[in-house]
Amino acid sequence: MTEEYHRVVIVGAGFAGVTAANELAAKGIDVLLIDRNNYHQFQPLIYQVATTQIAVTDVARPLRAMFRRTPSVCVKTAEITSIDPGERAVTTADGITYRGGFLILAAGAEANFFGIPGAAEHAFPLYSVDDAAKLRSRFLGALDAADRDEAYIDKGALNVVVVGAGPTGVETAGAVAESMRSAVPAYLSPALAASGRVYLADMLPSVLTPFRERSQRYAEAKLREAGVELRLDLGVTEVRKDGVTLSDGTEILSRTVVWAGGLKASSLLSDTGLPLGKGGRVEVAPDLTVPGFEGVYALGDSANIPDSAGSPLPQLGSVAQQSGQWAGRNILAELEGKRRTSFTYRDKGIMAMIGRGAAVAELGRARFPLRGLLAFLAWLGVHVVLLSGIRERVGAIISWVWDYFTTRRPQIVVDRPDYYHIDWDDPPDRTRT
Ligand SMILES: Cc1cc2nc3c(=O)[nH]c(=O)nc-3n(C[C@H](O)[C@H](O)[C@H](O)COP(=O)(O)OP(=O)(O)OC[C@H]3O[C@@H](n4cnc5c(N)ncnc54)[C@H](O)[C@@H]3O)c2cc1C
Repeated sequence: MTEEYHRVVIVGAGFAGVTAANELAAKGIDVLLIDRNNYHQFQPLIYQVATTQIAVTDVARPLRAMFRRTPSVCVKTAEITSIDPGERAVTTADGITYRGGFLILAAGAEANFFGIPGAAEHAFPLYSVDDAAKLRSRFLGALDAADRDEAYIDKGALNVVVVGAGPTGVETAGAVAESMRSAVPAYLSPALAASGRVYLADMLPSVLTPFRERSQRYAEAKLREAGVELRLDLGVTEVRKDGVTLSDGTEILSRTVVWAGGLKASSLLSDTGLPLGKGGRVEVAPDLTVPGFEGVYALGDSANIPDSAGSPLPQLGSVAQQSGQWAGRNILAELEGKRRTSFTYRDKGIMAMIGRGAAVAELGRARFPLRGLLAFLAWLGVHVVLLSGIRERVGAIISWVWDYFTTRRPQIVVDRPDYYHIDWDDPPDRTRT
């Protein structure tokens, strides 16, 4: 069996892993950065890739290009299949073991389907570029089917159901509704687009629970204005090949069900002996180390990071980035024989896009509220700054401007034929005799 040693091994090249690698690379520390993908992806804009607003290359950046000027960072593309935190070692699907003087676990999150029947099989989660490509191809497959034969409309071809009305669900439902209003009429025909329905379902009574009530009311009004049909206070009890069932017994026919109903830490962390808490995340000490495992850190969406009052911080890009930087600094301190320090989170607030000219933002720790055009511009500005490369920033700006002034979307292409082709046969228990 092959084995390789590095001073620091990082699993996951998301916000947390990349930021930690940069911090360590600045001091020339030997780092191995491993990800299953050869790119870093900007998750907050994945839903815009799925809804054909922007291109994959606007949100994904090749890791080797990001670190080409930092020779102390070695990038490997590999699926990690097991972790031995006691040995600070990880093993890939092809049997190679990487051992580190330090091990940083930053493998992010995955969809949590909460055991809802059919959800894992039939719903589309939105955590990666690959998820976005599958969803986009499915959406286009359903549209094209309705264009071939309007009988498919009665089977839900033009219905999109988004499950979960948190920020991801609201942004996705808003973007799908906007596509139905602007891009779909140009792609198909205005008459067919007018038959499109977008549903947003959540078991909670309001959208955007982390936000103030006024922001929630604003978001609900804007979503309704955009044509989104809210199904609040209603859980999804089943996802089927041909649609969803809600807790009041309502059935919505659809072949495009988006799952924004919750997340949990990467399943890679289970059965490792690591202390796991809420959401399967690693319980870390205030300095981001894992108690009982010397030299092991857990960051971002993989960890329950305590705030100053001891409550876990939310799963946000800013928490991941800042924890990555802090872990890098703590490792540098350890290497210099200094003490590690407790992580302090600088809360920059939360924001969510609803649609053209409509967004909500609550800025800073004081949660200063913004709504409407100002929040929309703040959202655009923040996301441009956060995108990791100049090419990606320019690309996203061009895509947004193009989209604002035209109805034609160059991203309306099918790249996952396996999700585009839909089996329209009724499920066996639905077959009408
Ligand atoms: C659709 C969506 C919208 C969001 N919008 C916002 C927003 O507007 N603002 C905000 O602050 N936050 C937002 N978030 C949350 C934010 O994106 C996450 O909190 C952040 O990405 C977490 O960073 P991370 O580094 O912990 O994990 P990730 O960014 O998920 O990175 C984890 C990495 O680990 C890799 N990996 C996982 N398992 C393996 C394995 N077995 N082998 C090899 N590699 C592996 C993955 O490929 C991935 O690259 C959003 C998230 C989603 C999904």
